[in-house]
Amino acid sequence: MYQLSQPPPTSASVDLTALAQNVAHVRRLAPRADVLAVVKANAYGHGAIEITRALQHLAVRRFGVATVDEGVALRQAGIRDAIVVLGATIPAQFQDLAAHRLTPVLYRADLIQAFAEAVEPGTAPYPVHIKVETGMGRLGVLPHELPEVLSRAELRITLRLEGLMTHLADADNRDTEQTEEQLKRFQEVLNHTQERGLAIPLIHVANSAGIINYPASRHTLVRPGIMLYGYHTLPNDSTAPELHPILTWKTTIAHVHTIPPGGSVSYNRTFIASRQTRVAVLPVGYADGYNRLLSNRGQVLIGGRRVPVIGRVCMDMTMIDVTDVKGVHVGDDAILIGQQGSERITAADVAAWQQTIPYEVLCAIGSRVPRRYLPLTSPSGEPSRES
Ligand SMILES: *Cc1c(COP(=O)(O)O)cnc(C)c1O
Repeated sequence: MYQLSQPPPTSASVDLTALAQNVAHVRRLAPRADVLAVVKANAYGHGAIEITRALQHLAVRRFGVATVDEGVALRQAGIRDAIVVLGATIPAQFQDLAAHRLTPVLYRADLIQAFAEAVEPGTAPYPVHIKVETGMGRLGVLPHELPEVLSRAELRITLRLEGLMTHLADADNRDTEQTEEQLKRFQEVLNHTQERGLAIPLIHVANSAGIINYPASRHTLVRPGIMLYGYHTLPNDSTAPELHPILTWKTTIAHVHTIPPGGSVSYNRTFIASRQTRVAVLPVGYADGYNRLLSNRGQVLIGGRRVPVIGRVCMDMTMIDVTDVKGVHVGDDAILIGQQGSERITAADVAAWQQTIPYEVLCAIGSRVPRRYLPLTSPSGEPSRES
C-alpha cells in the first residue's frame, strides 16, 4: 500500500501516559477489585487495538466489547486476555463467539442452552457471565427468574458461571434513590447465590459513575469505560481533577479569505457577515465526526483563543471566524478537542454545543481521522518496553 509521505491535516493524538493516570485513578478508587476495561466502539473512538495493548502494559487483563466483531478484531490483533462481549448477542453469533474464546454475557434462560450447544466439547467448561435486570430496563434475567436459571444443568456441565453482573441506569445522577434500589436488588441476588453455595469469582456492577459514586457497587470487578478516556458524566459542577482527557483532535487551516459585510458562508447562507470577516476553512466535517449540529454553535482554538464555527458544517469542511485573531495563516493548527496555550476545549464542551454527552462525541470521530499515540512512559519517565 502507498504510504503517505506527510501526515494528513486532520488527525487525533492519544496520550497513553494520561491513560495510565486514569487507570491508576480507577485502582485508587477500587483497590480490591479487578479491572475490566471497556474498549467497545473502537475504545470510544480512541482506537481499540492500541488502547487494549497499552492497557495490557498497565497489567489490565480483562476487556469489554459490545459486539462479537469487536472481540474478533482484538483476537486477530493477537490479544489473548479475557474479552467479555457486553452487548446484546443472538444465538446465530454464538459459534463465532466461542470459536474466538470470547466470553458471553447471557441474559435469558434460552440463551444458556443455545450457547451450551455452540461450545466445542474440548473447550468445556466454558466461562460465561449472567446478567441480572435490576432497573436498567434493558437486558437481564429478572431476579425472580434467576433461581431457575441457576439450576440449569448446562451451568454445571458445559458452562462455568464465572461472572454475575448488573448495570446501573442512573449512577451519574445526584439523586441516589434509583441506584440504591438497584444495588439492593442485586445484593438480594447475591445473597441467594451464597445460600446456594455458588462461588462466582467475578461479581460486577460498576461503570465509571458507579466506581466514582458508589463504593458498594465495586464488588470483585469494575467496568470503567469513559473514565479511562478522561471523562466523567457526573453533573457539570462536579469535577474529577484526577481524570485526564487523553484525546486531542486537531486540524490545519487549509485556506483563509475575507468576505465583506453581507457576505455569507456555507450551505443555505445561515451565516451572514455583519462586518468584514476573515474566514478560515478547516478540512474537517461531519463525515469525520464533527457534528453538523455544531453549525454556528461550535468553537475551535486558534492561536490559543476560542473562535466560532460559522455557517453550516459541511461533509468535509468547516468554516471559522478568525477576524479577531491576528496573524492567522494557512497551515496553522486548529484544535477541535484539546489544549492550546491556556485555553482548552473538551469533548464535554463539544457535547454541550451539540446537546449530547462526551461519549457520543468521542465515538463519532470517524475512520478518516488517523490516530497517533504518544507513548506510555513509566513512572521514571522512560518509555515502557514493547512486548
Ligand atoms: C459501556 C458499558 C460500561 C462502561 O460505561 P462507562 O459509563 O463508560 O464507564 C460498563 N458496563 C457495560 C455493561 C457497558 O455496556
